[in-house]
Amino acid sequence: MTKRDYYEVLGVSKTASQDEIKKAYRKMAIKYHPDKNPDNPEAEEMFKEAAEAYEVLSNQEKRQRYDQFGHQGVSGNGGFGGGGMNMDDIFSQFGDIFGGGGFESFFGGGGGRGGRRAKKGTNLRVKLKLTLKEVANGVEKKIKVKRHVLADGVTFKTCSTCQGSGQIKKVVNTMLGQMVSASTCPSCGGNGQIVDKKPANADAKGLVIKEEIIPINIPGGVADGMQLSMSGKGNETPGGIPGDLLIVIEEIEDEVLQRDGNNVVFNLYVSFIDAALGAQIEVPTIDGKVKIKLEPGTQSGKVLRLKGKGIKDLNGYAKGDQLIYVNVWTPTQLTREERTALENLRASQNFIPDPGKTEKNFFDKMKEFF
Ligand SMILES: [Zn+2]
Repeated sequence: MTKRDYYEVLGVSKTASQDEIKKAYRKMAIKYHPDKNPDNPEAEEMFKEAAEAYEVLSNQEKRQRYDQFGHQGVSGNGGFGGGGMNMDDIFSQFGDIFGGGGFESFFGGGGGRGGRRAKKGTNLRVKLKLTLKEVANGVEKKIKVKRHVLADGVTFKTCSTCQGSGQIKKVVNTMLGQMVSASTCPSCGGNGQIVDKKPANADAKGLVIKEEIIPINIPGGVADGMQLSMSGKGNETPGGIPGDLLIVIEEIEDEVLQRDGNNVVFNLYVSFIDAALGAQIEVPTIDGKVKIKLEPGTQSGKVLRLKGKGIKDLNGYAKGDQLIYVNVWTPTQLTREERTALENLRASQNFIPDPGKTEKNFFDKMKEFF
């Protein structure tokens, strides 16, 4: 199916002003609104088409791109792809078109027609602190939350103010003719139902606060500030679906290991004697201590790599590495004997720096990692 020209869809000229575009769209939206055309897929198509056209033509930048490149210019990045807009997007646009109360005040909602957001409880947000080890491998945590839940034994009855529709309708005269205006019922808050019987500890909505322990599997590779969402674990609301539980990740800084993406960095300090003679050295990793071999003649700045000792990739199976930066420690205090011993070595040819001897110098090596 070829896409119709957006100007044609809204029935306006290419030079139409923003005001004309808005008016044209308002007419289309009212004419083809799904509430006015139940079970009419053709009308729904027109409704969506008009919304898409308006979305582009009402935006200076998008309109310019559309004028220049046509549909290609506005699809994809920031555009609509092939699928057009979804109903939620369209309805959220209406605040702008119809002012304050949005479109629903003209047609009334209720009915729970597809596309309109169902009434949803509020989200809960908790912070979760994780150690580097937990971040690296993933972990199962138990989170304590206080949720609003429907009280045991609470019963509801149909709201007498709105007869269960959740809305109060009245006919109003508008610039577009006579319309039915609907506003949320003040007695039931739009639920259509009010509490009939409730236990003493429940609030007016029939809710109580309940402490719950919720287990959650944190995948490896999460990062500070990331937010995980558990749908339906937030606050309950009468006549709707529960909100979500949002878990915000906080990384606890490790005392010895630093995170660098999926790699873990460790700064190793060795004496120049160990560096010169070679040594077995114990280093910490996420999974405990391991022994590494320092080759004789190791230079300061050498980077050793422990494969797979890093952090799990959040979106894959791979694991990062642990990088060990070797720093040769120069003594800052010497006894008289030590001084004498070193003085005797000072003139030795082997102690005179000659970076050319090693294949690569420190800075070349660093470049490989960045
Ligand atoms: Zn009511």
